[in-house]
Order: sequence, then structure tokens, then C-alpha cells
Amino acid sequence: MRIGFGSDLHRLVAGTELILGGIKFESDVSPVGHSDGDALLHAITDAILGALAEGDIGSHFPPSDDQWKDCASSVFVEKAVQLMKERGYGISNVDTVVHLERPKLRPHINSMRANIANLLGIDISRVSVKAKTGEGVDAIGERRAIKAEACLILIEI
Ligand code: MG
Repeated sequence: MRIGFGSDLHRLVAGTELILGGIKFESDVSPVGHSDGDALLHAITDAILGALAEGDIGSHFPPSDDQWKDCASSVFVEKAVQLMKERGYGISNVDTVVHLERPKLRPHINSMRANIANLLGIDISRVSVKAKTGEGVDAIGERRAIKAEACLILIEI
């Protein structure tokens, strides 16, 4: 059994949509990022790589490499899952937190869980997505940033 943890932050600017957990929805702020800026999928990717002690998302998918520019972040998760399977592991469960002031994430949580479960090849009952605001303070609360954290357990298969 191995534990993994991942964290990611993106700056926010005025925009029209956000993508989180692979789900796009309307938002008056959008992330700045080299790929699609999906902080939640980036955190999950880092948690898988971390559990394998295989570096991080930046070492596997460097921003300096143009092939990852505007790339769907699901590609990062899929490649991390592939590496995990090659090592003989599967995911027991994943727990995540998204820190975002607005918009409210509640209407999108179950869509995100279903999409993440699909990407990871596990049942939705093994995927948790929780949402926190920044209480109006700091970069999260002032709507200058979005942050996501993910924790997961790998089991030998
Ligand atoms: Mg990122």
C-alpha cells in the first residue's frame, strides 16, 4: 500500500469558464495555465506520481514542451494511471479539496466525481470532491487564485 498527496494552484483572471475535474462550467474567473488549467486533475496526477515516488507533473509534462500547451489535463491523469498500472498498483480511493471563493461548486461536484472515477477506472463511491471558500481573505478569498489538493491510497493488484 502506498499513499500519495498532490497540490496545485493556478492564478485566476477575468474569464467565462472554469474547468475542474474535467468538467467545464460558467464562471466569471478563469485559470491561467499552460494546459487547460484544471487544478483538480493536476493535483490528482501529482498524488498518483507521488505515491509511486515518480517525480511530479512538471517533470513528466514540462511547460517548456509545446506538446502540452492547451492540453486536456485528462491526458496527464491517464498517463499517470498507465504508469501506476505498469507498477502493479490500483487506486483504493481518492479524497480531494478544491479551494475557490466563487462560483459555488456544489452543483458540479457529482459530475466531477463521475468524470474522475471514469479517468481513474474506479467506482464513484471511491472518489470524494470537497469544496472550501477562502472566507474572503488571502489569494483564494480575494479570487486571485484557485487551489486543489488530493490524497489517495494505491493498493497492489
Ligand atoms: Mg497546474
